[in-house]
Amino acid sequence: MRILRRQTSTFVLSIVLSLLGATALLFTFWKIWPHISSVKDLLSTFMTLLWTEKFDLIPNFEFELIYLVALGDALLISGVVLYILSVQWFYLPGRVVWYRCPFCHKDWRSIGDKALIHCPHCRQLVHPTLIERKEK
Ligand SMILES: [Zn+2]
Repeated sequence: MRILRRQTSTFVLSIVLSLLGATALLFTFWKIWPHISSVKDLLSTFMTLLWTEKFDLIPNFEFELIYLVALGDALLISGVVLYILSVQWFYLPGRVVWYRCPFCHKDWRSIGDKALIHCPHCRQLVHPTLIERKEK
């Protein structure tokens, strides 16, 4: 199913983005921690260090740590947003599902999640069972 495939790739992307974001933030703390572990005014020292400390992941290319924090936040947020989107796509209303009638045990496909439905085979009003079935 196309929706399921899109959902899976988005889900993977969201995990990757979140991990990258978390790594960037952890790296920042790891870099700053030796400087702030012994000071009293943690927060202001922390903020100052963000603007003054540099890191050079790429040689000859220095950034202030604040950019790494901003990048990490952006990655983490987009990761979370994508994760929510991928979960929503998964439960997208209107996706085709297969029902099974508890009386005549025949299957039919329909759209959405219905709790009570008329079986097209035996015409009974039933609580159908949702079943897993691959689309052709
Ligand atoms: Zn039936």
